[in-house]
Amino acid sequence: MSETVLDAFQDAARAWVPVEQLQAAASKMIAQVTGAEAGLVTSGAAASLTLGAAAIMAGYDPARMEQLPHAESFPHEFVVARDQRSGYDHAVRAAGARLVEVGFNEVVAGAGVRRTEVWEYEAAFNDQTAGVLYVYTPDSRPELDALVDMAHRHKLPVLVDAAGELPPRANLMLPAMTKANLVAFSGGKAIRGPQSTGLLCGERDLIASAALQLLDMDDHWELWEPPPHFIDRRKLKGMPRHGIGRSMKVSKEEIVALVTALAIFASEDPTDKYDSHRENLQLIAEAIESPTVHCELIDSVAGERAPSLEITLAAADALEICRGLRKGTPPIYVGHGKLSEGKLVINPMCLDRDAAGTIARRLLKELEHYRPTQD
Ligand SMILES: *Cc1c(COP(=O)(O)O)cnc(C)c1O
Repeated sequence: MSETVLDAFQDAARAWVPVEQLQAAASKMIAQVTGAEAGLVTSGAAASLTLGAAAIMAGYDPARMEQLPHAESFPHEFVVARDQRSGYDHAVRAAGARLVEVGFNEVVAGAGVRRTEVWEYEAAFNDQTAGVLYVYTPDSRPELDALVDMAHRHKLPVLVDAAGELPPRANLMLPAMTKANLVAFSGGKAIRGPQSTGLLCGERDLIASAALQLLDMDDHWELWEPPPHFIDRRKLKGMPRHGIGRSMKVSKEEIVALVTALAIFASEDPTDKYDSHRENLQLIAEAIESPTVHCELIDSVAGERAPSLEITLAAADALEICRGLRKGTPPIYVGHGKLSEGKLVINPMCLDRDAAGTIARRLLKELEHYRPTQD
């Protein structure tokens, strides 16, 4: 978190405000930045997925909210491409949703060239279908637009997991660009809000349902006055009690800090940030490059994804170096997605110059330790 965000967090800790009013104000700001009708600060993108699924299944119906996660008596199936399943879909299932897989993973299986197609989702729809779950990346297929069009023809909503898809900053507008009904982002990744925050943005009524299932609901119906642009009381048959999201509550400090971080993320120059990431990676590369340590700075189009540094170790076991880095002082956790190729990966997202220097120093130390003995 930046100093500005930390200051906002502290200021919020000294103020008093009903959380529903703070969330309603946050909703307006999130709507401005994302082009969505409304938004909610959650306790992480995973919580956004649970709340989003709960909102789609229950809508404004307090009896359904009360029943979750037992959703067998109303539509509760979410159709998802087999190649978009991951450990994060547990968050959707936690609301009571059942995932129905379509398509194949034949590209990874090496047994085919086609990805999941729109018609396969359509063929899986039935009277138990609540909606579609889609995990967004630039390589996701089918295209989200086409899938949303088809789902909307069946009056079914689409819940999108775009947790880690910022930058590019333009993806903030995914809810507006794709007409997906709900989109989840992490607050603790590139937005650099509190680690335990996320965003859910999208349709006003669904955000209201998610909010109702997140907020503390211990109030009197006669006294309870949520801001109408955020939660429309008239659409409720009665006042829901604490919902499935009550265990995912968000503090006023987190709400204020995330909204502050979001405003900074939405307004700062991505090119400046990209250049400083690059400089920090270059500092590391220059310090450790040797005949047995090859560094490659992986660029993306400026302003798009962050650059990264791939370090190929010719003489040392990448897994051993990775373990050694974790065990040293200070412990360093490098990207470990390419260990099988003998590579360490540095993501510069939250590094400043000092941290880059520390990483270079620790890498040098570990590499020296594992230098192969001479015959
Ligand atoms: C990081 C991530 C999440 C979870 O985000 P949190 O904010 O940590 O809850 C969910 N889905 C995907 C694809 C992610 O990358």
